Amino acid sequence: MDFSYTSKVEDLRQRVQAFFDAHIVPRIGDWHREVDEGQLPVSFVEELKTSARSEGLWNLFLPGLRDDEPGTALTNLEYAPLAEIMGRVSWASEIFNCSAPDTGNMELLHLFATPEQYQEWLLPLLNGEIRSAFAMTEPDVASSDATQIQTQIVRDGNDYVINGRKWFISNAAHPNCRILIVMGKTDPEAETHRQQSMILVPMKAPGVELVRNIPIMNHRSSEGHCELAFRDVRVPATALLGEEGSGFALAQARLGPGRIHHCMRSIGAAELALELMTARAQERKTFGKYLHEHGTIADWIARSRIEIEQARLLVLKTAWMIDQVGTKAARKEISMIKALVPSLHTTVLDRAMQVFGAMGISPDTPLADHWTWGRAMRFFDGPDEVHLRVIARMEIKQSRAALDASAAYLTPPLRE
Ligand SMILES: Cc1cc2nc3c(=O)[nH]c(=O)nc-3n(C[C@H](O)[C@H](O)[C@H](O)COP(=O)(O)OP(=O)(O)OC[C@H]3O[C@@H](n4cnc5c(N)ncnc54)[C@H](O)[C@@H]3O)c2cc1C
Repeated sequence: MDFSYTSKVEDLRQRVQAFFDAHIVPRIGDWHREVDEGQLPVSFVEELKTSARSEGLWNLFLPGLRDDEPGTALTNLEYAPLAEIMGRVSWASEIFNCSAPDTGNMELLHLFATPEQYQEWLLPLLNGEIRSAFAMTEPDVASSDATQIQTQIVRDGNDYVINGRKWFISNAAHPNCRILIVMGKTDPEAETHRQQSMILVPMKAPGVELVRNIPIMNHRSSEGHCELAFRDVRVPATALLGEEGSGFALAQARLGPGRIHHCMRSIGAAELALELMTARAQERKTFGKYLHEHGTIADWIARSRIEIEQARLLVLKTAWMIDQVGTKAARKEISMIKALVPSLHTTVLDRAMQVFGAMGISPDTPLADHWTWGRAMRFFDGPDEVHLRVIARMEIKQSRAALDASAAYLTPPLRE
């Protein structure tokens, strides 16, 4: 494994960074002002997207992109340092058409869309003309176990009819969100993992209701984490994604790249927190010393550096594995980063907020927003405990094969 940047990646990294410094960082204040005033989409987002695209900084996340599709086909390993830069500002990835949940949805459509679905939904998504949401979680069942999903997708002649309720559906409040990928049951009698299917539902389909935009830690995201109701929503049978019963397999395919992108951006947010914490610790004095001269703060700075480097290396290894052996074979690594990185993210952000004093939890720094997102990450795309369970199960399965060899290391007491 070689994680040094190739000249291609170094060139892209410098170009993304230069674009970021010139066009995104100076607009952070304007972005917050407009969102606070309820202006969405923010007025300058389309203009920035056009500039990023014209500079070749577009769809940087999709390794399978064909030559005739817009974007830069990068491997996951190549994309990692670019996503890390984007992670420093919560809204930056949209400018490069690399934002969640669109990226995961585009990956999924790229793999499974029919030619008609491709033209109607994937192409506008690749062009950044529309946005999308992924609707799996439901209020009435513990959705970390996706086999429990209750939404019904019932065949009726040439249509499917959908009834159910979803919540925490990210992006559904965005005015450009036009398409929902909905997971539900087409055959409740089938084998557990063959009951679910995914179906494409236009946001404007009759019967789709945006019930509310749910605040996260009392923080309302402008794009929304929404509760949605589906009442007798009728779509043509051609809206099914993949085949009936394939929903669970599709969900697995979608969550690999989606999870790693979140982790890559998290490393960027943690890196920003460390930078801000280190700068602040050199400016402020208490009890005759700069903050960094107090042992505790020096310790936080050092530990943050160590933990970020550890997490980054694991994320890069995971990206490399997805590129080399695919999402399925990298399943343990994907769960490891998803269980590790959100905690690292909140730990480093928490230390940085503390070093800033009360200002650290005010809107005058980006720290509180980044912390909130890190905390939310411990739920979405699978809560920590589910990922830890996956890792433990795989470890136990692997160890069974080597139980005799491990026993040789034990030294039982001598018996007469
Ligand atoms: C900001 C945000 C954005 C989101 N975006 C989306 C989205 O776009 N689309 C979407 O479909 N969903 C989305 N979600 C929902 C998210 O995916 C779910 O919250 C998550 O899957 C957990 O499901 P649940 O909330 O029903 O928790 P439950 O399944 O009820 O689990 C509750 C708790 O039980 C514990 N637990 C569960 N399983 C185990 C286990 N095996 N061992 C030990 N403990 C366990 C965990 O601590 C877990 O937190 C989002 C959530 C948030 C917070």
